[in-house]
Formats: sequence, C-alpha cells, structure tokens
Amino acid sequence: MKILFAASEIYPLIKTGGLADVAGALPVALRNKGHDIKLIMPAYQGILKKVAPIQKSINLGNPFGVGDLLLLETHIPDNDTPIWLLQCQALYEREDGPYVDKNGIDFQDNHIRFAALSWAVATLALHGNLIDWQADVLHLNDWQTGFAAAYLKSWKVDHIPIVTTVHNLRYNGSFDMNQFSDTHLSPELLSMHGMEFYGRFSGLKAGLVYADAITTVSPTYAQEILTPEYGDGLDGTLRAMQNKLSGILNGVDYNQWSPEKDALIPQNYDIDTLHLKQTNKLALLRENSLSEDLNYPVFGVVSRLTEQKGLDLVLHVMPSLLDKGARLIVLGSGDKNLESGYLELQKNYPQQVAVRIGYFEDYSHRIQAGIDALLIPSRFEPCGLTQLYALKYATLPVVRQTGGLADTVFEEGDKANGFVFKEANGESLKLAMERCMACFYDGNRWLQKQQNAMRYDYSWEAVTDQWVDLYQSLLNR
Ligand code: ADP
Repeated sequence: MKILFAASEIYPLIKTGGLADVAGALPVALRNKGHDIKLIMPAYQGILKKVAPIQKSINLGNPFGVGDLLLLETHIPDNDTPIWLLQCQALYEREDGPYVDKNGIDFQDNHIRFAALSWAVATLALHGNLIDWQADVLHLNDWQTGFAAAYLKSWKVDHIPIVTTVHNLRYNGSFDMNQFSDTHLSPELLSMHGMEFYGRFSGLKAGLVYADAITTVSPTYAQEILTPEYGDGLDGTLRAMQNKLSGILNGVDYNQWSPEKDALIPQNYDIDTLHLKQTNKLALLRENSLSEDLNYPVFGVVSRLTEQKGLDLVLHVMPSLLDKGARLIVLGSGDKNLESGYLELQKNYPQQVAVRIGYFEDYSHRIQAGIDALLIPSRFEPCGLTQLYALKYATLPVVRQTGGLADTVFEEGDKANGFVFKEANGESLKLAMERCMACFYDGNRWLQKQQNAMRYDYSWEAVTDQWVDLYQSLLNR
C-alpha cells in the first residue's frame, strides 16, 4: 500500500511530544512490512540540516499570498524514510518552536501555517502525477493536518480514503470565524456537522468529520472521549461517528529506548544484569548532587508541565514522601506556576530534589535508566509514551488509571508492572506512591515487578498489523 503520512512534527527532525515519536516510528514499522510510505512536514528552521540532500523541488505557487510554497523531496538519514518538506520562509522559518513563540504564545498565523501545510498535503494526495506517486491512503494526524480533509471535501474529492489519528483531543486547532477566509476553504463546510466548533472553525473537527476512519492512540482513550468528561466538546461529534472510531496503542521504538543498547546512558543492562541499573542511579544522583544512598527510592518526572499531566498533585504530596527519604528528579517545561513550584520544592529539599526546566532528550534517557519509579498522574492520557519507556528500563510507573496508562500499567496479578490509582487527587496519588515505596523495600517483590515490566512488548511491530488491517479495510470498501 502507498500511504501519505502527514504530521506537524516528526522525530528525529523535530519533537515537542508524543506525536513526533509516533510519526517518526510508525512509518518505519510499516516500511519494514513492505509498505510504501511518504511523509510530509513543514521545513521549519534548521530542518534542512538534518535531512539528506534535496533530490527534487516542486513549486506549488503562492495560494495563500505569503510566498511560494515549495515541496522539497528528501529522506530521513537515520532510516531512509522518504519525506517531503514544505518550505515557505514566511510561514515556517522561525527561531522558536513549531507552534509557539519563545513566550509560549501561539503564533498569530497558525491557522494559515497549518492550512497551508494541509493544502499541500491534500494537493499531493490528489495530484500524484506531481511526484509520480499516487497515495492509496491519506493518514492525517491531529488538528494541524486535519484541514487537509476539509480541502479534499471542498474540492469534492472522495476517492482517497482518509485516516485521522487523534493524539490529543484537547488541542482542537480552533480559530476565530473571521480568520476563516484566510484558509480559502469553502464556507459550505461551516455547519455543525462540518468543521464549525462552538462558533469557531476547527482543524481537528475537520479531520474527524471528513475522515473515513478515526483512530486514537489507545483503546481506553477511544472509549473515554465519547464522554463529556473527556470529550473536550467533541464527544457528541464522536458519538455520532462511533462506527468509524477505534483505538490502536502506540508503540515504542526499542532501537532508541532499550537499556541494553542505549548509548545515552552510563551503564547498559538487561533483564539478566538488572543489578547494573544501580550504576545509572548512582550516576544520576551524583550528576545532580543529591544524596547518594541507594537504599531509598528515587522518583522521576519527564513531562510537559501542564494541567493534563496532574503534576500539581505531585507537588502537593511530595513533601510527605521526601520526609520519608524519597528523592525526586524532574525534567520538564510548560506551565510557569508548575515550573516555579518545582523550583521552590528543590530549594526546600536541596539534597533530595533536582529540577531541570527545559527539553533535553539525552537527559531523559539518563533519568529513565537511573530512577526507580516514574510518576504519571495524568488527568487524561491519550496513550503516554514515557510509561512504556520506563517499563523497558525496569523503572516502575506510578500512573493514574486513564487512557493508555490504563491499557499498559497494572498493579495486580502475576504480570503486575507498576502502581495504579483511580481518582485524580493528591490522596490517591500519595497512597499509590506509598505502596510503591513499600514494594521497593520488599526487594523480591520489586524485582519481580521489574522483570515483568521489562518483558512487556509494546513495540511498533506488535501493532503494525492493526494499522495494515485498517488501511486495507478502507481500500476494500
Ligand atoms: P505528550 O505527547 O502528551 O507530551 P507522551 O508521553 O505521549 O506525552 O510523549 C512525551 C514525549 O516527550 C516522550 O518521548 C518524553 O520522553 C518526551 N519529553 C517530554 N518532556 C520532555 C523534556 N522536558 N525533555 C525531554 N523529553 C521530554
């Protein structure tokens, strides 16, 4: 099958979250099964240095009046995956992240930036002759490429099956109606059954309503988003389209995330040499000038610091656990109140708490290898990747039972691999962390859980067939 896979971030070229990991790895897994995948993403500043030399360039003209849109053909050096980069200096070449400026404020023209990306995606899907390659299926991801489904609808094209994957329903890419004309989409699409969203227009809703199949990144989240509590205003829309919605768990790229071959950690280890994990723990404590006693557990956080992730709860309960000898290592950035809350905690417990604000890929590997338990008390979690990485590193996740966390972490039974709590409050989290600490001091039980954790296979290979079946079912229609 030929699949055009569109995303606004793709690892290792650019990453702000799980979407990039997925967009970097699922296409590789599909190619390994013999399918023909092409990626498309904007040529953000600095991206051209990270890809192979450009093989071909196609000028798509200046449909948005902001400068010519150029499609550049290249591939990702690490794995040879073919990719088209959409170049337009005025839209994509900025010093800051892909979506927000250095103050964390959304770029004012995001609706045009991602309408243009989506327009290029739709154009490539429709006019395969431009690149001598006709996609069988178009795979869109999140709101940034959701507009592509709207362009194809606007152009009355319905012969190309569209899959839209929701990585996080919270980010619906909705904009003020008076910006709609900038997209050059047909106003006919602005109905309640179209891309209108509470008086605004939404890229994500376009991606949902005009898709042939909707997936989300775990089975539990696929169920949860049908409810008002998790539906973020789209639950009604989703309930009406339940028959085309499914959940396929994200996988892990174990080439990047395996303690036995991870080049970014001080000491490699596997299930037979688990005691060597201690070397990583010691190095991590030393790196952060924390107390080096290995007899007490080290908790960790690697996360965006947002309300979603429930990390305000950790701040709330942490002092009582620190007073019992635990330590905490935090890597993250986001909400300024949370950032300063964690920095304050570090100030109060300089021997026990180390906080680094920012995004550091290498450091995140050292944390996964060095801590004992990873805290993920999310209020909602579409899939979550960090718990999957943690399991492979014999780092036990402490998670709230929601979304992909509920599908992958289990406290009870002979395959128990972590600690799970139900209610999104400090008390439930604290009890789970206390159970975690008690287990840590019971060496045998801890070791058993660690071994269980390492044995789980959450690889892309394990789920690729579900994707192939989904694409195939659309082609068979
Ligand atoms: P989300 O996509 O909601 O942010 P996921 O758990 O699905 O959450 O994916 C987050 C990804 O980003 C993981 O690969 C995680 O290791 C990484 N990550 C998050 N914050 C940081 C950070 N501050 N530094 C390095 N990596 C981070």
